[in-house]
Amino acid sequence: MRKAVVHAVEDVNLVLHRGTVTSVVGESGSGKSTLARMLARLIEPTAGQVLLDGKPAPAGGREYSRLVQLVLQDPFASLNPVHGMRYILGRPLKIHGMAEGVATDDAIKDLLRRVALTPAEQFIEKMPHELSGGQRQRVAIARALAVQPEVLLADEPVSMLDVSIRLGVLNLLADLRDREQLAILYVTHDIASARYLADTIAVMYAGRVVEAGPAVQLTDRPQHPYTQLLLSAAPDPDRAESPSLAGAGSPPSLVNPPSGCRFHPRCPFAMPKCAEQNPPAFQVGPGQTSACWLHEGHTPKTSSTVSATA
Ligand code: SF4
Ligand code: MG
Repeated sequence: MRKAVVHAVEDVNLVLHRGTVTSVVGESGSGKSTLARMLARLIEPTAGQVLLDGKPAPAGGREYSRLVQLVLQDPFASLNPVHGMRYILGRPLKIHGMAEGVATDDAIKDLLRRVALTPAEQFIEKMPHELSGGQRQRVAIARALAVQPEVLLADEPVSMLDVSIRLGVLNLLADLRDREQLAILYVTHDIASARYLADTIAVMYAGRVVEAGPAVQLTDRPQHPYTQLLLSAAPDPDRAESPSLAGAGSPPSLVNPPSGCRFHPRCPFAMPKCAEQNPPAFQVGPGQTSACWLHEGHTPKTSSTVSATA
Protein backbone atom coordinates (compact mmCIF):
# COMPACT_ATOMS: atom_id res chain seq x y z
CA MET A 1 0.00 0.00 0.00
CA ARG A 2 1.31 3.44 -0.81
CA LYS A 3 1.59 5.82 2.03
CA ALA A 4 -0.60 8.86 1.61
CA VAL A 5 1.17 12.13 2.17
CA VAL A 6 -1.00 14.56 4.05
CA HIS A 7 0.01 18.18 4.06
CA ALA A 8 -2.16 19.15 7.01
CA VAL A 9 -0.58 22.57 7.26
CA GLU A 10 1.13 24.46 4.45
CA ASP A 11 2.90 27.78 4.30
CA VAL A 12 1.54 29.20 7.52
CA ASN A 13 3.40 32.00 9.30
CA LEU A 14 2.36 33.08 12.75
CA VAL A 15 3.89 35.82 14.85
CA LEU A 16 2.83 35.64 18.49
CA HIS A 17 3.53 38.76 20.52
CA ARG A 18 3.75 38.98 24.29
CA GLY A 19 0.59 40.26 25.85
CA THR A 20 -1.60 39.25 22.94
CA VAL A 21 -3.92 36.41 22.00
CA THR A 22 -3.76 35.10 18.46
CA SER A 23 -6.59 32.82 17.46
CA VAL A 24 -6.47 30.17 14.77
CA VAL A 25 -10.03 29.45 13.65
CA GLY A 26 -11.24 26.63 11.45
CA GLU A 27 -13.50 23.63 11.09
CA SER A 28 -12.35 20.13 12.05
CA GLY A 29 -9.75 19.02 9.56
CA SER A 30 -8.55 22.55 8.81
CA GLY A 31 -5.13 21.76 10.24
CA LYS A 32 -5.48 24.05 13.24
CA SER A 33 -4.75 21.37 15.86
CA THR A 34 -1.89 20.04 13.77
CA LEU A 35 -0.43 23.53 13.79
CA ALA A 36 -0.70 23.74 17.60
CA ARG A 37 0.87 20.30 17.97
CA MET A 38 3.73 21.25 15.67
CA LEU A 39 4.34 24.37 17.73
CA ALA A 40 4.34 22.19 20.85
CA ARG A 41 6.82 19.91 19.03
CA LEU A 42 4.54 16.90 19.44
CA ILE A 43 4.67 16.57 15.66
CA GLU A 44 7.79 17.36 13.65
CA PRO A 45 7.02 19.46 10.58
CA THR A 46 8.69 18.51 7.31
CA ALA A 47 9.69 22.13 6.83
CA GLY A 48 9.57 25.36 8.74
CA GLN A 49 11.03 26.78 11.91
CA VAL A 50 10.15 28.31 15.23
CA LEU A 51 11.86 31.54 16.27
CA LEU A 52 11.79 32.96 19.78
CA ASP A 53 12.73 36.63 20.01
CA GLY A 54 14.03 36.34 16.46
CA LYS A 55 16.40 33.46 17.21
CA PRO A 56 15.86 29.78 16.40
CA ALA A 57 14.09 28.14 19.34
CA PRO A 58 15.82 25.30 21.20
CA ALA A 59 15.39 22.13 19.17
CA GLY A 60 12.97 20.51 21.59
CA GLY A 61 13.28 18.67 24.84
CA ARG A 62 13.02 20.19 28.27
CA GLU A 63 14.05 23.75 27.47
CA TYR A 64 11.58 24.06 24.61
CA SER A 65 8.73 22.54 26.59
CA ARG A 66 9.43 25.01 29.37
CA LEU A 67 9.10 27.93 26.96
CA VAL A 68 6.10 26.67 25.04
CA GLN A 69 3.29 24.97 26.95
CA LEU A 70 0.21 23.29 25.51
CA VAL A 71 -3.23 23.09 27.13
CA LEU A 72 -5.52 20.50 25.55
CA GLN A 73 -9.20 20.26 24.92
CA ASP A 74 -10.25 17.56 27.36
CA PRO A 75 -9.81 18.49 31.02
CA PHE A 76 -11.02 15.04 32.07
CA ALA A 77 -8.30 13.19 30.16
CA SER A 78 -5.49 15.60 30.91
CA LEU A 79 -5.31 15.13 34.70
CA ASN A 80 -4.24 11.76 36.07
CA PRO A 81 -7.10 10.72 38.40
CA VAL A 82 -4.83 9.02 40.94
CA HIS A 83 -2.87 12.17 41.74
CA GLY A 84 -3.95 15.16 43.80
CA MET A 85 -3.24 18.83 43.11
CA ARG A 86 -0.07 18.80 45.21
CA TYR A 87 1.46 16.18 42.91
CA ILE A 88 0.01 17.45 39.62
CA LEU A 89 1.26 21.00 40.16
CA GLY A 90 4.31 20.14 42.24
CA ARG A 91 5.82 17.84 39.65
CA PRO A 92 6.53 20.39 36.90
CA LEU A 93 7.85 22.81 39.54
CA LYS A 94 10.27 20.12 40.67
CA ILE A 95 11.28 18.84 37.21
CA HIS A 96 12.07 22.34 35.99
CA GLY A 97 13.71 23.40 39.24
CA MET A 98 11.13 26.13 39.95
CA ALA A 99 10.59 25.23 43.61
CA GLU A 100 11.67 22.57 46.06
CA GLY A 101 11.21 21.40 49.60
CA VAL A 102 8.92 23.40 51.86
CA ALA A 103 8.66 26.24 49.32
CA THR A 104 6.81 23.94 46.92
CA ASP A 105 3.46 24.20 48.72
CA ASP A 106 3.62 27.99 48.58
CA ALA A 107 4.45 27.87 44.87
CA ILE A 108 1.51 25.51 44.26
CA LYS A 109 -0.89 27.78 46.15
CA ASP A 110 0.38 30.73 44.17
CA LEU A 111 -0.40 28.84 40.94
CA LEU A 112 -3.90 28.00 42.19
CA ARG A 113 -4.54 31.67 42.98
CA ARG A 114 -3.32 32.75 39.55
CA VAL A 115 -6.05 30.61 37.98
CA ALA A 116 -8.63 31.74 40.57
CA LEU A 117 -8.96 28.40 42.37
CA THR A 118 -9.38 29.80 45.85
CA PRO A 119 -9.10 29.31 48.73
CA ALA A 120 -5.85 27.76 47.54
CA GLU A 121 -5.37 26.09 50.95
CA GLN A 122 -8.42 23.94 50.18
CA PHE A 123 -7.77 23.31 46.48
CA ILE A 124 -4.25 22.05 47.11
CA GLU A 125 -5.76 19.09 48.99
CA LYS A 126 -8.20 18.10 46.21
CA MET A 127 -8.26 15.19 43.78
CA PRO A 128 -9.31 15.63 40.12
CA HIS A 129 -12.67 13.87 40.68
CA GLU A 130 -13.59 16.56 43.20
CA LEU A 131 -13.31 19.26 40.54
CA SER A 132 -15.71 20.42 37.83
CA GLY A 133 -14.64 20.50 34.19
CA GLY A 134 -13.95 24.21 34.39
CA GLN A 135 -11.88 23.80 37.55
CA ARG A 136 -9.91 20.99 35.91
CA GLN A 137 -9.17 23.17 32.93
CA ARG A 138 -7.91 25.84 35.33
CA VAL A 139 -5.62 23.22 36.90
CA ALA A 140 -4.34 22.28 33.43
CA ILE A 141 -3.61 25.97 32.80
CA ALA A 142 -1.93 26.29 36.23
CA ARG A 143 0.23 23.29 35.41
CA ALA A 144 1.29 24.99 32.18
CA LEU A 145 2.06 28.21 34.08
CA ALA A 146 4.20 26.33 36.62
CA VAL A 147 7.22 26.40 34.34
CA GLN A 148 6.89 30.12 33.51
CA PRO A 149 6.37 29.67 29.77
CA GLU A 150 6.67 32.46 27.22
CA VAL A 151 3.99 30.97 25.00
CA LEU A 152 0.76 29.23 25.93
CA LEU A 153 -0.90 27.12 23.24
CA ALA A 154 -4.55 26.38 24.00
CA ASP A 155 -6.27 23.91 21.67
CA GLU A 156 -10.06 24.22 22.00
CA PRO A 157 -9.69 24.80 25.76
CA VAL A 158 -13.38 25.49 26.37
CA SER A 159 -15.18 23.40 23.76
CA MET A 160 -15.76 20.47 26.14
CA LEU A 161 -16.93 22.64 29.00
CA ASP A 162 -20.48 23.58 29.90
CA VAL A 163 -21.57 26.73 28.14
CA SER A 164 -22.09 28.46 31.48
CA ILE A 165 -18.45 28.18 32.48
CA ARG A 166 -16.74 28.77 29.12
CA LEU A 167 -16.67 32.51 29.56
CA GLY A 168 -14.89 32.21 32.89
CA VAL A 169 -12.04 30.23 31.33
CA LEU A 170 -11.81 32.60 28.35
CA ASN A 171 -11.65 35.51 30.79
CA LEU A 172 -8.88 33.74 32.68
CA LEU A 173 -6.88 33.49 29.45
CA ALA A 174 -7.51 37.20 28.82
CA ASP A 175 -6.29 37.96 32.36
CA LEU A 176 -3.11 35.93 31.85
CA ARG A 177 -2.44 37.79 28.64
CA ASP A 178 -2.88 41.16 30.33
CA ARG A 179 -1.40 40.51 33.78
CA GLU A 180 1.40 38.12 32.86
CA GLN A 181 2.05 39.33 29.31
CA LEU A 182 1.86 35.82 27.91
CA ALA A 183 1.75 35.17 24.20
CA ILE A 184 -1.29 32.95 23.75
CA LEU A 185 -2.38 30.93 20.75
CA TYR A 186 -6.07 30.15 21.00
CA VAL A 187 -7.18 27.38 18.63
CA THR A 188 -10.93 27.12 18.12
CA HIS A 189 -13.72 26.22 15.73
CA ASP A 190 -15.81 29.01 17.26
CA ILE A 191 -15.16 32.34 15.57
CA ALA A 192 -17.41 34.18 18.03
CA SER A 193 -15.21 33.15 20.94
CA ALA A 194 -12.14 34.12 18.92
CA ARG A 195 -13.60 37.57 18.39
CA TYR A 196 -14.27 37.82 22.13
CA LEU A 197 -10.82 36.76 23.29
CA ALA A 198 -8.31 37.33 20.54
CA ASP A 199 -6.43 40.39 19.35
CA THR A 200 -5.70 38.79 16.00
CA ILE A 201 -7.46 36.01 14.10
CA ALA A 202 -6.12 33.68 11.42
CA VAL A 203 -8.81 31.69 9.62
CA MET A 204 -7.58 28.33 8.33
CA TYR A 205 -9.12 26.28 5.59
CA ALA A 206 -7.70 22.94 4.41
CA GLY A 207 -4.29 23.58 5.90
CA ARG A 208 -3.83 27.16 4.74
CA VAL A 209 -4.49 30.54 6.28
CA VAL A 210 -7.17 32.11 4.08
CA GLU A 211 -7.75 35.33 6.01
CA ALA A 212 -5.97 37.06 8.86
CA GLY A 213 -6.24 40.36 10.65
CA PRO A 214 -7.27 42.25 13.78
CA ALA A 215 -10.08 40.27 15.46
CA VAL A 216 -12.86 42.86 15.55
CA GLN A 217 -12.08 44.29 12.12
CA LEU A 218 -11.92 40.83 10.53
CA THR A 219 -15.20 39.67 12.06
CA ASP A 220 -16.95 42.98 11.31
CA ARG A 221 -15.68 43.10 7.75
CA PRO A 222 -14.78 39.58 6.66
CA GLN A 223 -13.31 39.67 3.16
CA HIS A 224 -12.72 36.01 2.34
CA PRO A 225 -15.79 34.01 1.23
CA TYR A 226 -14.91 31.23 3.68
CA THR A 227 -14.76 33.62 6.64
CA GLN A 228 -18.10 35.02 5.53
CA LEU A 229 -19.50 31.48 5.50
CA LEU A 230 -18.10 30.73 8.98
CA LEU A 231 -19.65 33.90 10.37
CA SER A 232 -23.01 33.19 8.77
CA ALA A 233 -23.22 29.73 10.34
CA ALA A 234 -25.41 30.54 13.32
CA PRO A 235 -23.44 30.03 16.51
CA ASP A 236 -25.01 27.41 18.69
CA PRO A 237 -23.49 27.51 22.16
CA ASP A 238 -24.66 23.96 22.93
CA ARG A 239 -22.71 22.48 20.08
CA ALA A 240 -19.40 21.00 21.16
CA GLU A 241 -17.90 20.48 17.72
CA SER A 242 -17.58 22.57 14.61
CA PRO A 243 -20.62 24.47 13.50
CA SER A 244 -22.36 22.58 10.76
CA LEU A 245 -22.00 24.31 7.46
CA ALA A 246 -24.50 21.84 6.06
CA GLY A 247 -25.67 22.66 2.60
CA ALA A 248 -22.35 24.32 1.99
CA GLY A 249 -20.39 21.09 1.69
CA SER A 250 -17.59 19.98 3.95
CA PRO A 251 -13.85 20.55 4.19
CA PRO A 252 -11.81 18.58 1.64
CA SER A 253 -9.58 15.62 2.33
CA LEU A 254 -6.01 16.71 2.75
CA VAL A 255 -4.74 13.56 1.08
CA ASN A 256 -5.90 14.85 -2.25
CA PRO A 257 -6.87 18.48 -1.77
CA PRO A 258 -8.61 20.51 -4.49
CA SER A 259 -6.35 22.31 -6.93
CA GLY A 260 -5.95 26.08 -6.89
CA CYS A 261 -7.93 27.73 -4.13
CA ARG A 262 -8.87 24.81 -1.91
CA PHE A 263 -12.20 26.42 -1.14
CA HIS A 264 -13.30 26.55 -4.76
CA PRO A 265 -15.63 23.50 -4.71
CA ARG A 266 -17.69 25.20 -1.98
CA CYS A 267 -17.29 28.82 -2.96
CA PRO A 268 -20.31 30.72 -4.33
CA PHE A 269 -17.96 33.16 -6.09
CA ALA A 270 -15.63 30.64 -7.73
CA MET A 271 -14.22 31.63 -11.12
CA PRO A 272 -12.34 29.39 -13.61
CA LYS A 273 -9.02 30.74 -12.36
CA CYS A 274 -9.81 29.63 -8.81
CA ALA A 275 -9.51 25.94 -9.69
CA GLU A 276 -6.15 26.52 -11.34
CA GLN A 277 -4.12 28.87 -9.21
CA ASN A 278 -3.71 29.18 -5.47
CA PRO A 279 -4.37 32.84 -4.60
CA PRO A 280 -1.69 34.72 -2.64
CA ALA A 281 -2.63 36.69 0.47
CA PHE A 282 -3.78 40.15 -0.66
CA GLN A 283 -3.72 43.13 1.67
CA VAL A 284 -7.40 44.04 2.08
CA GLY A 285 -7.34 46.38 5.07
CA PRO A 286 -4.99 47.61 7.81
CA GLY A 287 -3.18 44.45 8.89
CA GLN A 288 -5.80 42.32 7.15
CA THR A 289 -5.08 39.84 4.38
CA SER A 290 -7.32 37.62 2.30
CA ALA A 291 -6.11 34.82 0.04
CA CYS A 292 -8.80 35.13 -2.61
CA TRP A 293 -8.75 36.06 -6.29
CA LEU A 294 -11.65 38.46 -5.70
CA HIS A 295 -9.05 40.76 -4.16
CA GLU A 296 -6.67 40.65 -7.06
CA GLY A 297 -5.49 44.18 -7.65
CA HIS A 298 -4.79 44.66 -3.97
CA THR A 299 -1.13 44.38 -3.04
CA PRO A 300 -0.13 40.76 -2.56
CA LYS A 301 1.78 40.05 0.60
CA THR A 302 4.71 37.70 0.28
CA SER A 303 3.28 35.37 2.88
CA SER A 304 0.27 35.07 5.12
CA THR A 305 2.12 36.35 8.15
CA VAL A 306 -0.14 37.03 11.07
CA SER A 307 1.04 39.86 13.22
CA ALA A 308 -0.68 41.03 16.36
CA THR A 309 -0.34 44.66 17.25
CA ALA A 310 0.70 44.85 20.89
FE1 SF4 B 1 -13.79 31.69 -3.90
FE2 SF4 B 1 -12.04 31.95 -5.88
FE3 SF4 B 1 -11.83 33.43 -3.71
FE4 SF4 B 1 -11.27 30.85 -3.62
S1 SF4 B 1 -10.17 32.39 -4.78
S2 SF4 B 1 -12.47 31.99 -2.14
S3 SF4 B 1 -12.81 30.03 -5.02
S4 SF4 B 1 -13.50 33.48 -5.21
MG1 MG C 1 -8.83 19.77 16.88
